[in-house]
Order: sequence, then C-alpha cells, then structure tokens
Amino acid sequence: MSKQKKQVLILGGGFGGVKTALDLCDVDTYQVTLLSDSPDFKYYPALYRSATGGSRKSSIIPLADIFEDKPVILMHEQAVKLDRDNQVVITESKQKIPYDILVVALGSITNFFGIEGLQEFSYGIKSIEEAEKLKRHLHQQMLDDKKPDLNYVVIGGGPTGIELVGALPHYMRWIMKHHGLKERKINIELVESSPRLLPRMPRDLSVAVARQLRKQGIKLYLGQTVKAQTANELIINDRPVKSHTVVWTAGMASSPFLKENNFTLERGRVVVDEFLRAKGESAENVYVIGDNAVTEYSGMAQTALHDAAFLAANLRRLADGRVPKVYRPKKPIYVFPAGERWAAVLWGSVRLYGWLGWVLREAADWVGYHDVEPWWKASELFLAESDSEESCPMCGESQSRSQAEV
Ligand SMILES: Cc1cc2nc3c(=O)[nH]c(=O)nc-3n(C[C@H](O)[C@H](O)[C@H](O)COP(=O)(O)OP(=O)(O)OC[C@H]3O[C@@H](n4cnc5c(N)ncnc54)[C@H](O)[C@@H]3O)c2cc1C
Repeated sequence: MSKQKKQVLILGGGFGGVKTALDLCDVDTYQVTLLSDSPDFKYYPALYRSATGGSRKSSIIPLADIFEDKPVILMHEQAVKLDRDNQVVITESKQKIPYDILVVALGSITNFFGIEGLQEFSYGIKSIEEAEKLKRHLHQQMLDDKKPDLNYVVIGGGPTGIELVGALPHYMRWIMKHHGLKERKINIELVESSPRLLPRMPRDLSVAVARQLRKQGIKLYLGQTVKAQTANELIINDRPVKSHTVVWTAGMASSPFLKENNFTLERGRVVVDEFLRAKGESAENVYVIGDNAVTEYSGMAQTALHDAAFLAANLRRLADGRVPKVYRPKKPIYVFPAGERWAAVLWGSVRLYGWLGWVLREAADWVGYHDVEPWWKASELFLAESDSEESCPMCGESQSRSQAEV
C-alpha cells in the first residue's frame, strides 16, 4: 500500500530554496513544492556585469529550466502569511498551500534606512530590471549633449559597491568610444560611511582594494554619510554633489515576511537551533536558511548553498529514520572583483590579489552555476558571462565589445 508523501514547501526560489529543492526532490517520501514571487533564479554575483554591458543570460535563469524533468511543483506566487496552527502558507492571491515541512529562504530586500529621496532617485542592482535601468541611464547620460552628468556616485563600500564601481571606468570609456564621442572627464566616486572599505574584512585587504580602485581614477570618500538625495544632487555629510547617477548598494534587510509572521528575530534574521529550525516555534517543522537565518556567515550565497545542502541531507536522514546531524557553519571564500581582471581573495588566512584572484572568481562563478544546473548548462551560463553582445539601449545600435577595443 502506498503511503502518502509528506509535503515539503520551500519559500523562495533563490540560492537556498533552489538548492534545497534540487537536493530533496528525488526522495520518494517527499513531495517538494517551490514557491517564489519571481519566475527566475537570480544569480546576484553577475548583476553588476549585466549593468555594465554583460549579457542578462548570466544573471537570471528561469526556474522552469532548472526544474525541467524534476518532480518539483513550481508556484509563482508571493507568500504573505503563515498559519502555523493549520500548517498552511497563504499567498497574495489568497491560495492556501499546505505543508508538513516548511523551509523559509526568502532572502533580503534593499534597505534605504529612511534616508530622504534615496528610494525615489537612486538606482540599484538587486534585480535584472534595476541593472538594465542603470545601464540605459548610463548610455543616456553619455549621449546627452546638453548637460550630461559629470559625477557618478556609488554608495556602499561593501562587495556589491566595489564590484560595480570597479567596472564603471572601463564601461564608460567603452560607451564613449562606441558612440564616437570625445572622451569626457567624468568623476566616479565611491562613498562609504565606515573609515575603510570592506569594514568586516582584514585591514590589509581593504587597503589593497582601495589602492586598486584609486589606480583606476575612482575617488573614495570614506567615513562619509549620505544624508539625502534630491532630483539633482546628493548630500554627503553637508557637501552637495551634483549628480543624476547615484547607485545605492549600502543596505540590506531581511524579508518583511519574517517580522510580519512573528518569527523570533535577531538583527532582522530568524534565530535558529542546531538543526536550523526556527526557535520559539510551537511546531518543529519550520526551517530557516540562507540570508534569513542567524548563522555565523549569513548574508552570502555560499552560506545559503551550504545551509541548503545541510538541511536537505538532514531531511533525507529523517525520511530514513536516522538521527539528524548538527549544523556547522562553513567559512566562505571571499572574492572581491575591483576592476578589469582584478580581484582580491581571502581564503582562510591566504590573500590573493590581481589576475589570479580574478581567475578564482571566474572559477567560483562556474561552481555557483553548477550548484543549480548540470555541468553543460553551467558551462553555457559561465561562457555567457563574458558575452558582451550589447545593443545600445538608447540608439539601438548593435555593437560587440571586447577587452582589446578600449
Ligand atoms: C548585487 C549582489 C551581489 C552579490 N554577490 C555575492 C557574491 O559575489 N558572493 C556571495 O557569496 N554572495 C553574494 N551576494 C549575496 C547573495 O546573493 C545572498 O546571500 C543569497 O542570494 C542568499 O540566498 P537566499 O536563498 O537566502 O536568498 P535569495 O537568493 O535572495 O532568494 C530569495 C528568493 O525568495 C523570493 N522571495 C522573496 N520574498 C518572497 C515572498 N514573499 N514570496 C515568495 N518568494 C519570495 C525572491 O524573489 C528570491 O527568489 C550578493 C547579493 C547581491 C544583492
């Protein structure tokens, strides 16, 4: 007689959610459902490339492609409410999705810290839509022969701000050259409120990254706080900077779903036990992973993948009647690209800088794609990263770009 399968409901089709679903979907006793508000998996580490002339293919992968031939039910819905008593998640369209085991992997949203004007006037690179909007704007500025921006400001000296600002000088030169424009003198600035870049990294690494950015002509404003933004300028401390191109990369907050559904939170993330179960729950079947969980290295794709692999392995053990293992955090390898073919790497206590760092970053991307796709599709996506089949979003002129051209 066939036993009824347990319903595993995973919220969020990002690094954690997708990996959990992939690792668990072949267990006979589980039926896995993946619910996400986006039809695509977002490969965030490549978004800055999509904003600066790279292809969009490497930044977003349709969930339907990833789960083609996999026994996973995909639902394109936004999770709104958790009804613990009845073990259902209620979506925006009022559907009630039942679960026996719930995995919460809803990731983070942009946080503007209530700074006046930022949400309205700044650009972002948290989604492909934002990245492409920024790209269009950069072209628009260069083609504007009346009053184009002279100042291009990225806010946030963390990994995202550094990789974006490091790619800008090369890309802006490329836009000018391919539109046959005389090279203009523009300022590219990076603003960080801490006294140094990458404040959570060792000091020598921050110094090396800062040196590399300065070498490319980028001006660093450290220990400076953004106070407000208007349609025409940004106020940094009390200094107004005229710019229509401000990119905010400085703030992240956990998904609002967590607070709205009364999870026990610490700094916006859910407190979890040694099995990544949400603490303080009456039921023991609610797990939280990735950016949403308070773990040592939360906030990184590598951690979300590690959490997912750990949780899927434990749920397999439970399905077989075995004892689950205790969670151990895994220290990530930190890689910070900061310009054309240059990256800083921190691997344990080892530091690597320059081209070798860049090679490692490329290798990490291949591994990242391979975490969600078989090796041949991962290779295609990886190769798409260096595709720069770009058509100007303003004049529609199609151009091909190569490093040698600039
Ligand atoms: C620009 C950028 C660059 C980054 N670069 C790196 C890097 O180089 N290396 C690194 O290790 N980390 C990097 N990170 C961090 C990394 O991407 C995150 O730590 C990782 O995505 C967390 O995985 P997750 O599964 O917790 O959440 P996510 O991958 O964000 O997935 C969350 C998913 O949930 C969906 N969702 C959200 N709310 C709802 C809802 N209410 N209902 C249904 N679905 C919902 C979202 O659409 C998304 O698909 C970067 C982040 C950004 C923004």
